[in-house]
Amino acid sequence: MNCLLCGKSAVYELRHSGHWLCKKHFTQLFERKVKKTIRQGGLLGKGDHILVLLDGSTQSMVCLKILNDIMRPNPKAVLSAALVDDGFGAEFSRESKYCESIGVEHNLVQFGKVKDFALKCGASKIALSDDVEDEVKNSLKALLEFRPHDIEKLGETTEYPPKKGISAIKVLREVSDADITLYAELNEIPSGRFKITGPEDRQLRQMIDTLERMHPGTKYQMLASTDDIRKMLSEKQSS
Ligand SMILES: [Zn+2]
Repeated sequence: MNCLLCGKSAVYELRHSGHWLCKKHFTQLFERKVKKTIRQGGLLGKGDHILVLLDGSTQSMVCLKILNDIMRPNPKAVLSAALVDDGFGAEFSRESKYCESIGVEHNLVQFGKVKDFALKCGASKIALSDDVEDEVKNSLKALLEFRPHDIEKLGETTEYPPKKGISAIKVLREVSDADITLYAELNEIPSGRFKITGPEDRQLRQMIDTLERMHPGTKYQMLASTDDIRKMLSEKQSS
């Protein structure tokens, strides 16, 4: 297969059209999607200090790489990383090396101390690496457990921890984990482990993947429905 835009050897099939893209044009498309989420959500301010949480997943490494690319030209912006120790003996040499290679300050932080660390180091926002599947899974979970107001906590900005922390941003919420994995492979970002999740979360993810296979586009429709419900809930609250 050849790239629709330049004719070079292709690596990625576009979901709806069946056309293909090469490495360069897939990378541009992926970065454009993430930048659109950032722009439309107003996620980055000029003087922001963003603390990226590195949990060992590929998603968190891609989140760091993209934010570093965007923020580096701005001398007022600060980017740092927290290697989040979940207490299960996680090992972060790959993440440390990557941070050093791109010049990002990084510290090992215990899972329960992230908020304190963020406040202590002067971070204005925490960057989470939730992707479209995480967002849809959390939305579905809120509906299944009859906690519709938990949907309000979703979206491109939230609080860390919910309702009592500092603001958290999700720059990857509109890209899928498959696209994130491919982006990492093509751009030589060290790939991480799978995200650690409980059995219930894994079941929901599998359910969402099954629905997507049966009805392509379902994930994005569910994300759009989630965003509509969020808007309705916040309009109801402000009226
Ligand atoms: Zn191309």
